[in-house]
Amino acid sequence: MPDRNPRLTAAGQLLHPCRVCGAPGSFGFGVRLLKGQLGTWYCGDHRPGRPAHQAAAPAPAPAGQMSLFGGGHG
Ligand SMILES: [Zn+2]
Repeated sequence: MPDRNPRLTAAGQLLHPCRVCGAPGSFGFGVRLLKGQLGTWYCGDHRPGRPAHQAAAPAPAPAGQMSLFGGGHG
């Protein structure tokens, strides 16, 4: 498995490749540099929240999903 975790170079530069494809990531999530957390990074194509134009992986079903049907008791 390729190393796509964000890391600091010897020069002190933060490298943050997209965790999906490994390209230079532009969107970081959960970044807390003061706490030593380098977060999770994505490129523009794989950033969460972007409308998916291709089904790469099935999205997990949201927990506690409400249904408009099947209510009522009688
Ligand atoms: Zn990517």
